Amino acid sequence: MKLKFCGAAKTVTGSCYYIDTGELKFLVDCGAYQGSRENEAMNYEAFPFNPADLDFVFLTHAHFDHCGRLPVLVKQGFHGRIVCTQPTRDLAKVVLLDAAHIQAEDYERWTSRAKEGGMTEAEVEEESFYTNRKPLFTIEDVEAMAQLFEVYPYSTSVNINNHFEFRLRDAGHIIGSASIEFWVKNEAERTRKIVFSGDLGQPGARIVKDPDLIREADYVICESTYGNRIHRDRNETLLELLAILQAAQKNEGNVLIPVFAIERTQEILYEVNLFVEQRLLSGLPIYLDSPMASKATAIFKQYPDFYDEDAKRLLNKGDDPFEFPGLHIVEDAEESKRLISKRGIVIMAGSGMCTGGRIMHHLKNNIENAKTHIVFVGYQVKGTLGRRIVDGERMVRIFGREYENNAKVHTLGGFSAHGDERDLSYWLGSFGHTPKQIFITHGDEQVAEEFADKIYKDTQIETIVPNVNEEFELK
Ligand SMILES: [Zn+2]
Repeated sequence: MKLKFCGAAKTVTGSCYYIDTGELKFLVDCGAYQGSRENEAMNYEAFPFNPADLDFVFLTHAHFDHCGRLPVLVKQGFHGRIVCTQPTRDLAKVVLLDAAHIQAEDYERWTSRAKEGGMTEAEVEEESFYTNRKPLFTIEDVEAMAQLFEVYPYSTSVNINNHFEFRLRDAGHIIGSASIEFWVKNEAERTRKIVFSGDLGQPGARIVKDPDLIREADYVICESTYGNRIHRDRNETLLELLAILQAAQKNEGNVLIPVFAIERTQEILYEVNLFVEQRLLSGLPIYLDSPMASKATAIFKQYPDFYDEDAKRLLNKGDDPFEFPGLHIVEDAEESKRLISKRGIVIMAGSGMCTGGRIMHHLKNNIENAKTHIVFVGYQVKGTLGRRIVDGERMVRIFGREYENNAKVHTLGGFSAHGDERDLSYWLGSFGHTPKQIFITHGDEQVAEEFADKIYKDTQIETIVPNVNEEFELK
């Protein structure tokens, strides 16, 4: 049986793993690369396998770096089944339709600017080809992909045939996220168990449940986004958020929160709802300026069975955890523009790493003001504007113009959707000494290496940090 690392190898995006059991061929995730233009250019490279040969794609969750190239795969001949949970199916569709819209808009804007600059139709065509500006996929491609979903509940073993069985487990990362267990009978009729962590959440998160612990495996593929860091305590994080909101309210500064539409947005709404209920905060207007986040929130509300006890309890009391006095849902771009003149407000807008979306306009209008607070609640990939702001760069470029960053910048790690070094080690620890090899992926190179060293020291199990397109024989 072969395992090939087709993405998220020594980097945090582009998750894609290829397995050939000898009888079946499948992928775990088919994500897009994100961050710098060089990273994004990798989305245009050919897959190192034939999409038409695949029987399945197992999708761990709906984040773009895990599902972003699924429509491309279908366009290139994949016609098997896409296996995931119900919320993942619904959220992936929202995420991919949104990406199709944004790509089409960006491309239109770029071509009209190029033509204004004197390029001919043919030159535009050529330039767009060489600079990978053509949209990766269209709305029709997403619709075609959506026909292939097949949903399964957590913790239920599914027998595909005598040689192949799988089970989805709760990864506690975002709603519907899964770790996946596979049992494969090899040529010698021996069963081998392979486990993919997917992205693992922080135990104790409010809405999603804690990651399921898995007792044994022959091979484990584990993420390492925060493999060399310890997050701040959640209560401290909450106090910090409250203090920022109160300070901004007092001095009439604006608080900008670049949000990931799925999970971070809902976690923050959840906490602010509690602040308001406990009367720690009142009269502070909060604008959710992200059409995708609003759609994702609507999907969250459809799947209360996936919530953990905290969130269920609120719901049973009749309190909608995602609604409170002071919350305004921004419907359209015109309303978004009207926020420019307002002071003493909170704006939550995408994208979460400031690579596009409405947050860009809000940054442009607020970043030079010393009363502004910018609050980061998720991982910032290298090469993104978000990362440059977090790294403390004084001058930042937004829409082709330099702006001085005078804002107060905060990073609230306690809200991360990813477990930290301790959480990942704890999850891996539940396998005991059963794995023959542990592959460490989905982390920046140095982080993955440090985490692999630590796991090896703790367990003496062989740990490997694979290169992109490296292939291994699983015996
Ligand atoms: Zn994720």
